[in-house]
Amino acid sequence: MDKLTSLLKRRGFIYQGSEIYGGLGGTWDYGPLGVELKNKLKQSWWKKFVQQRSNIYGIDASILMNKDVWVATGHVDNFSDPLVECSKCKKRFRVDQIEGSICPECEGELGDVRQFNMMFKTQVGSVEDSASTSYLRPETAQGIFVNFKNIIDSFHPEIPFGMAQIGKAFRNEITPRDFLFRAREFEQMEVEYFVTPESWEENFETWRKDIIEWLRSVGLTLDRLHEKEVDGDELAHYSKRTIDFEYDYPFGRKELLGLAYRTDFDLSRHAKMSGVNLEYFDQVNNDHFIPHVIEPSFGVDRLVLALLLDAYHEEDVAGESRVVMRLDKSIVPIQIAILPLMKKDGMSEYAKNIFKKLSNNFVCHYDETASIGKRYRRQDEIGTPYAITVDYDSLEDNTVTVRERDTMVQKRIPVDELQGYFEEQYKFLN
Ligand code: ATP
Repeated sequence: MDKLTSLLKRRGFIYQGSEIYGGLGGTWDYGPLGVELKNKLKQSWWKKFVQQRSNIYGIDASILMNKDVWVATGHVDNFSDPLVECSKCKKRFRVDQIEGSICPECEGELGDVRQFNMMFKTQVGSVEDSASTSYLRPETAQGIFVNFKNIIDSFHPEIPFGMAQIGKAFRNEITPRDFLFRAREFEQMEVEYFVTPESWEENFETWRKDIIEWLRSVGLTLDRLHEKEVDGDELAHYSKRTIDFEYDYPFGRKELLGLAYRTDFDLSRHAKMSGVNLEYFDQVNNDHFIPHVIEPSFGVDRLVLALLLDAYHEEDVAGESRVVMRLDKSIVPIQIAILPLMKKDGMSEYAKNIFKKLSNNFVCHYDETASIGKRYRRQDEIGTPYAITVDYDSLEDNTVTVRERDTMVQKRIPVDELQGYFEEQYKFLN
């Protein structure tokens, strides 16, 4: 994990938030390669669960919401984690992350258990009073529920139908840790899928399969994925069934995403608190009811981390070690690297011309520094599946070398066939 995090910093994937000021706990900044990877992951999700589905509606709701939203859902009263404080060093810990009553940092005595609300409170407008209190949303789901009526009124969908959103969520975690895994600011991709109360089980099963299929499509190693039925005390009071999809991180088997049957809890609460009728009218059966909800909730950053951990490989090539990031082609930050063998004799210009053409359709990277071997290694390290090399022969016969990341096989391809060749390699993306 340490090797991966240092590579990710060095190569511009992920940096510590506010680093030059000593950082801010639980915040991470995505660099140029990280943001490409994260965007591709989000696009893939959006395509699979919104664009390729005729009955799922995408939205992008505000992060700041009326505080009554969070009163209605119980977050103001209950969205808390139990914490204990060390009487000596004053550090705070989540109760479920420590053993015994001794501080793991300084061996001081830990105090009594207290509840700590994890929502970030803020003030909207210039007058500071309780009416102006707002919160940074701790989940994207509620932005969906408060727009339920808008979607009904604009699109008149037939049940079952869903609403989807990708966006930031904020939780004032007591002990952010394990890199991207437990952050205070992170992103979620969530669907609220509205169903009749009678059909929740079949829809739950369908979602369960769809989740796995999509995870497979972005290259997650399914051997490291495990489903855990949440039961007993751990099950939220409004949920009749929840599965945590856990992943084998180097720091343990931990929740990657959740699939929950949330009954009609959220819509009923919002109808009550807002006084707005949030019933669905089933014209076929002439029936008014509050739909029930199946919710797949993906953590973008936890998935980015899992995919990077899966992809990171160290191997021996002819006595030399090579680091290769075997990311799936659908999510690689750079799709094609373009490398002139040397800067001189017109090779740069020739290669730049290829860059100009291919970058209309692919994410390309142009690099003319250092030896060609070093440049190949650099591209392997960031997961670039193909590298094009322009050499002296190119200037003569208009062919280039295309090298594959995984096999390291090199083949000669005419320049005017490059576009078609890469369209073929990346055709599954369209
Ligand atoms: P945990 O028990 O690990 O705190 P949770 O059960 O509270 O997680 P949910 O409320 O189900 O998490 O949130 C849905 C998803 O959002 C999680 O499966 C995870 O992928 C992501 N997520 C939640 N909290 C964080 C966090 N602090 N940092 C990064 N991702 C998070």
